[in-house]
Amino acid sequence: MAAGDIAVPETLPTVIAVRGARHNNLRDVDVDVPLWRTVAVVGVSGSGKTSLAMGTLYAEGLHRFLESLSTYSRRRKRWKPGHFSFNTREGQCPTCLGLGHIDLDVQYLPDITVDCPTCHGARFNDATLAVRVDGLTIADVLGLSVDDALEHFADRSPVTAALRPVSEVGLGYLRLGEPTPSLSGGESQRLRIASRLRSSQRGVLYVFDEPSTGLHPLDVATLAGVFDRLLAAGATIIVIDHDLDLLAAADHLIDMGPGGGPDGGHIVAVGTPEQVARDPGSVTGPWLAEHLGPP
Ligand SMILES: [Zn+2]
Repeated sequence: MAAGDIAVPETLPTVIAVRGARHNNLRDVDVDVPLWRTVAVVGVSGSGKTSLAMGTLYAEGLHRFLESLSTYSRRRKRWKPGHFSFNTREGQCPTCLGLGHIDLDVQYLPDITVDCPTCHGARFNDATLAVRVDGLTIADVLGLSVDDALEHFADRSPVTAALRPVSEVGLGYLRLGEPTPSLSGGESQRLRIASRLRSSQRGVLYVFDEPSTGLHPLDVATLAGVFDRLLAAGATIIVIDHDLDLLAAADHLIDMGPGGGPDGGHIVAVGTPEQVARDPGSVTGPWLAEHLGPP
């Protein structure tokens, strides 16, 4: 295998043993990646960290696809989920066909958009809007944020079980009716993680490429908390990143280098954040040592 062999021992493995990896600029890299831990791969640009994490570990098929969070839907007697969708005839307002507004085509004038006179923007038909749960119509529910819904439906465990993971990955501000295309890349990534938090993660390997990019320091702390949740459920996490908070929170670091391109491709330091911080071979070490403070 060009990407390097992955040895699978017969007893319960505790590491992914990468031997002789030569993907891109990797120079016969041998490294043990601990399972059921957060492992951060660091190094200067072009040092081979992406080749190791993506080209070797990820490419060997040790990950499973993430699934999208299934849309929140409610079932009632003889009512199907379609009755609570403005995209179906059963649920939508007959006047605006679920758009909530009407485009008026007035001759010689630009098109005018007005609120639908029947549903006044609610997008659902009267029969659907007549159904209330805990006092709220489906239109009301879709207008709630995840955190508001957790509070409102606190006594309904199927609802809270579905929504709590979304709040826990720091997305409690999203409205339930939020169209998914409006989410940022980071939000979509965290929403997919949330959908996984309810099931066993045993044997699942996650590889995150620069997940801290564009995140506020508080969100980085949330992300580290999400990693802890995934670990507790049995996953292994590999993260390529430069964020010192994220590196300090990792269980194990693999430092690649020493330089980039032809000067990279070697493992220069491995160990806990404290061990790598003290390793004279590590380029990241001095910054990490300063971040961690005196031992
Ligand atoms: Zn309407």
